[in-house]
Parts: sequence; structure tokens; C-alpha cells
Amino acid sequence: MKPGYEAVIGLEVHVQLMTHTKMFCGCPNRYGTPPNSLTCPVCLGLPGALPVLNGEAIRMGLALGLALSARIPARSPFYRKQYFYPDLPKGYQITQGPVALAEEGALDVPGDPSVRGREGPVRLRIERVHLEEDAGKSHHDRSGSHTLVDLNRAGVPLLEIVGAPELRSPREASEALKALHRLVTFLGICDGNLEEGSLRCDANVSVRRAGDPRLGSRVEIKNLNSFRFLRQALEHEIGRHVEILEAGGEPELETRGWSPEEGATRPRRSKEAAMDYRFFPEPDLPDLEITVAETDRVRDAMPELPWDRERRLQEAHGLTPQETATLLQSPAFADAYEAAALASGHPRATANWMLGEVSRALNARGCAFETLGLDPRHLGALVRLVESGRLPLKLARDEVFPALLAGEGDPETLVATRGLVQISDRGAVEALVREVLSANPGPAAQWRGGNPKLRGFLVGLVMKAGRGRLDPNVVNEVMDDVSAE
Ligand code: ADP
Ligand code: MG
Ligand code: ZN
Repeated sequence: MKPGYEAVIGLEVHVQLMTHTKMFCGCPNRYGTPPNSLTCPVCLGLPGALPVLNGEAIRMGLALGLALSARIPARSPFYRKQYFYPDLPKGYQITQGPVALAEEGALDVPGDPSVRGREGPVRLRIERVHLEEDAGKSHHDRSGSHTLVDLNRAGVPLLEIVGAPELRSPREASEALKALHRLVTFLGICDGNLEEGSLRCDANVSVRRAGDPRLGSRVEIKNLNSFRFLRQALEHEIGRHVEILEAGGEPELETRGWSPEEGATRPRRSKEAAMDYRFFPEPDLPDLEITVAETDRVRDAMPELPWDRERRLQEAHGLTPQETATLLQSPAFADAYEAAALASGHPRATANWMLGEVSRALNARGCAFETLGLDPRHLGALVRLVESGRLPLKLARDEVFPALLAGEGDPETLVATRGLVQISDRGAVEALVREVLSANPGPAAQWRGGNPKLRGFLVGLVMKAGRGRLDPNVVNEVMDDVSAE
């Protein structure tokens, strides 16, 4: 950031809810089916069709509102927002009006230490969370002569989250989006797939002279579908604002889009900011009324929040903040860790396996934990075998873990059928040591004569003779004992 200037950023995030059905009809809410296969008179906007509100969507919205410590107004009516676009069959979108489902919440976000006074977590105000419906999707034909419309997404429940203009750098904006992403995925209300558009982010940004209490004129950058694009688009846009301000100008209030190919923002539909949506209350739906009993039910059914879970793992499992953050990379990964740690009885060692072997396997395959095919209880049993000294770590890594990934059953059975159990029996180890010493009389004599370098060589031969199954502590004890003979 150029000295003397300050960036101000506010995010608007749309979250697609994982309800079974759409917002106002019984059509399945599903991604990836043939175009226009999930439609009915309601979501097609046919005359006379009436909307019926989806209770599951309301409960998911309430869960997010409660997680953000927001206020839940007793009554929040639906409104119609009118505009004309081919993917909006009714000619209006049902959304909420001046009163939202949840208002005045807050979210803690890691501050950007390179911005003065922003070290440590900063509390971002969330202005509102409201319910609305998604539009369909337009597919612009390559030749430019046709636009095809798919209405499977029309009427899918959305939550719009409006953050206050309180973020101060692209890095803080991306941290805020990550925190929201983590929250909605751990609440189980959104799958968090940015690429498929399950979570969509618009970023509003303005630049002002440092110390000026007034906000500069803002630009809205639409549809940033990755954390990296959000950061890059903001970096670019902030630079553009500074240039305009330096030249004595004022950035125009407009909507822009990020072009990854050009590495620049470009103006989008003009005058959108000035468009008249002719908002009015939705006559076909009763006002949304939320009772205290309903809010209590949602609160009671809520899963542990990610920040509480983070603290619990640090305190009860003795993990570092860095380790905990990595374990909470996704609900499936975090759940697997906890199930494996419970089965092993050794949380610390289990964390090492998740962050080591399991993460390496995920990277190598480029897949998510859900598709890895690893049963967390099997991983727990493997860790228990290693920690109890029955299975050497090397065999666990090289033989048993790959077999678990290949779905070859549980570790106890694998170890038994493959004869992988660690040999700690003194007599057995001693027999092997003597065998190796008599087979290598030269090195054995040098070692007994006091050459320390040969010990490692001989131990290596002993371990090899034991096919990696010998308990290294016992091998060392036996070596000490026989060295003086
Ligand atoms: P609208 O109703 O036109 O969408 P809002 O005032 O509700 O406008 O703001 C929408 C988003 O823009 C919010 O996320 C808010 O934080 C952000 N915002 C508002 N003013 C500014 C500004 N001057 N600079 C940066 N972001 C802003
Ligand atoms: Mg808005
Ligand atoms: Zn429908």
C-alpha cells in the first residue's frame, strides 16, 4: 500500500444452502444434473404458482446468525427485487427487505500485521444475514448467437452475508472469507465449493487518505470465486484507485469483474448501482416470524463451532495453533482426526499421522479426505499398534498404511497375516545378532576392538535380517551385552 493511503474493504458473500429441496418448492436442491431437469411451476415462475417457504433453510440461516452472535428479529418480511434477466423466470427475486433474518453479528478475523494497529485478531462486524433465492444460469454460446438457460439453480436457497466496511487489506479480506468459509462448512449448511459457486464473494473497495474518517467512493468487484482471485483483484483495484487519486481524480462508483487472464479488473454491466429494483413486500408469503423456542431449538442442535473446537484441541489434545488450524482444514478431515485419536488413545501421535502420511497421500492423489477411502478407526488402530511398541514405525508407514489406503482391512489382521509384529523377545533378537556377527567376522572383530563406526553397520545388518521387525531398543541392549564378550 502506498504510504499516506488506506484501503477500506467490505465483503458480500452468498452462501448456497445444502437443503434437500429448493427455497419455495419441492424440487431437489442438487448440483450437476442435466439442464432444466429440476424444475416445477413454482421455480419456473409460471402464472398462479405459489411459493411455500422451506423450514430447513430458515433453520440453517438461524444457525449462522447465532454462530455470529447476531440479533434475530422476531419478524423479517420477504420482498420482491425486480429486474429483467433471462435466468430470472419470475422477473423478480424473492429476498428480504430492510429487516433481515439476522442482524448485527460479529466474526473474529486474523488481522494483517503489515497494517498499523492490525496485529492479532480483529472483530469484523457483520451487518446482516438474509435469506433469498438464487437465479438460474445462462450459458453464452461460443458463436455469440445463442444464450442457453438452465433453471436447475433457480430457487435454490441462499444466505447473503453483508460484512461492514472494516477490512483494511486484501490479506484481511481473504482471511475474512476463509473464516466465513470455515464457519458455514463446519455448521454443515454449505459445501463450501467456491469453484462450483456454492460460496460466492463480491468485494467492495475504496481508498482514502490515511486518517480521513470519511469513506472514499467504492467499486464493487463481482463474483470472486477463489481466495487467490479475491486477493489479486483487490490488490489491482487498490492500485488503480491510488493512481486515480494521485492524479487528482475520483474513482467512479461502478461494478467491475476480475479477469484472471489480464490480471486486471474490468468494468461490468454499467449503471447497475443506479438500477431501480422497485422493491416491495412479497404478497404471496407471510412475514417470516421467528419464535424464541425456534431459536432455542436451533441453538441446541448446533454442532461445536470451529473456534471452540480449535481451542478444545489445543487445550485437551496439547496441539499447537498451527497444527489445529491444519486439522480443521475441512469438517471431514477434522472429524477423521478426532475419530482416529479416540480409537488410538494417542491424540498427539494421531495428529502427526494426519499431518504427515495422510496429508501426503491426499496431496499425491489430489483428492479430499472423503474420497481417500481411509477408515479413521483403522488409522487409530494403526497408531495404537505403533505406540504400544508392537509394530515398528517403518513397517507401519511402508506396509500397513498403504494397505489401509488400498482397503485391505484392519491393521490388527494385516499385522497378523503378514507377520509384521515387532520382535522384542530378547532370545530371538540375540540369536539374530550372533548370526550376523559370526557371518561377518572381520567387521565384528573391528567393532569389538573399539571402532565405533562399525556398530551402525552391524545393527543395520541385524535389522535387515529381522526384516525390519526388530525392536531397535532390544537390538541395542543385546549389542551392548555382546560387545564385551
Ligand atoms: P448496497 O445496499 O448498495 O449493496 P451497502 O451499503 O449495503 O450497499 O454496502 C454493501 C457492501 O459494501 C457492504 O459489504 C459494505 O461493507 C461495503 N461498503 C459500503 N461502503 C463502502 C466503502 N466506501 N468502501 C468499501 N466498502 C464499502
Ligand atoms: Mg448489496
Ligand atoms: Zn421447483
